Amino acid sequence: MDVKQMDREYVANTYARFPLQITKGKGSVAEDETGKKYIDLCSGIAVNSFGFADDIWQNAVAAQAAKLQHVSNLYYTEPCAKLAEMLCWRTGMKKVFFCNSGTEANECAIKAARKYAAEKKGKEYYTILTLKNSFHGRTYAALSATGQDALHKDFQPLVPGFVYAEANNIEDLRAKAEENKLAGILFECVQGEGGVNVLEQAFVDEIARLGKERDILIMADEVQIGNGRSGKLYGYMNYGIEPDIVSTAKGLGGGLPIGATLFGGKAEFVLKPGDHGSTFGGNPICCAGAISILERLTPEFLDEVQRKSRLIFQKLQGKKGIRCLTGVGLLIGIETERPAADIINACMERGVLTLGAHGKIRLLPALNIPDTLLEEALDVIIAVCGE
Ligand SMILES: *Cc1c(COP(=O)(O)O)cnc(C)c1O
Repeated sequence: MDVKQMDREYVANTYARFPLQITKGKGSVAEDETGKKYIDLCSGIAVNSFGFADDIWQNAVAAQAAKLQHVSNLYYTEPCAKLAEMLCWRTGMKKVFFCNSGTEANECAIKAARKYAAEKKGKEYYTILTLKNSFHGRTYAALSATGQDALHKDFQPLVPGFVYAEANNIEDLRAKAEENKLAGILFECVQGEGGVNVLEQAFVDEIARLGKERDILIMADEVQIGNGRSGKLYGYMNYGIEPDIVSTAKGLGGGLPIGATLFGGKAEFVLKPGDHGSTFGGNPICCAGAISILERLTPEFLDEVQRKSRLIFQKLQGKKGIRCLTGVGLLIGIETERPAADIINACMERGVLTLGAHGKIRLLPALNIPDTLLEEALDVIIAVCGE
């Protein structure tokens, strides 16, 4: 049996994989089992912040693996403490809880918001407002928070206490906040899976205002847009707001599973010993990898992310077969005349990896993709869209 057959035979059938087996990669170039090369504009869904097998990241991870791979949360370790300090210093947040994925980072946020509200306002204040078309993960509370009926339908009953407002509809947001006893508001400032929809400044301002007015927790889901992808360290920083909780994962680890929930001053002391935990949370190897990523997300580097973003917009805008572009930084959605799936497959055949998002093409290249590779890949996209 070859790898594809074996996978289809034995791996649970939850993914519609592309017919492509990737065997290795370096930077923004992936290679399949036949030796064919692909320019990668996915970075493992916004995970490989510095591409495949990046030397600096690899050294940080390998050095830590050779020293200490895991001790559990019964003991202190340096990488965990150091990463938490870095995250707090870079964001102004006060405390960090470490887990292993985006969905878990959101689970922690949701638990904290409910505990905060129960203590401050009463047990009946448990409802979390999220947005339609959002994506917050696959575990039960995060799935319940996700505003997409298609993902809910076979898994009833969901966790109770979630309401969904329409993104960028301030009236709807206010009405839902009025009608429900809220514990918090959870939102992505750029909806990734939901089709690369960017929240407007006025809408985000209103979320922040409601948080203050009602003394509820404002939670930014930065799992996809965070860690430099927006051209700022975290996406919410483009809006000048200060969330009470930030959840992050994907790009933070540069390729290893790590999630983090950051607590601001209002929420700093909500969770107490015994309230929450994760065996692997704060794992030294994952934290060492994440430290090496964060260290490189300097203001100069983030300016480069913004420049690459402008390059993509300039090159693609107005081209034949391309209707419009949405997104921020290096999370970009392309609405095309031809079906997105056709474009994605045609690009793959010509050696460019892209992904979809609600009928659009989604680009999530490594943050350090060289201009030459980026332009080469964009030329392929332009050619395919124009056919
Ligand atoms: C991917 C994603 C998640 C879920 O992350 P996992 O690591 O797959 O659990 C949550 N929120 C957003 C915004 C995401 O893009």
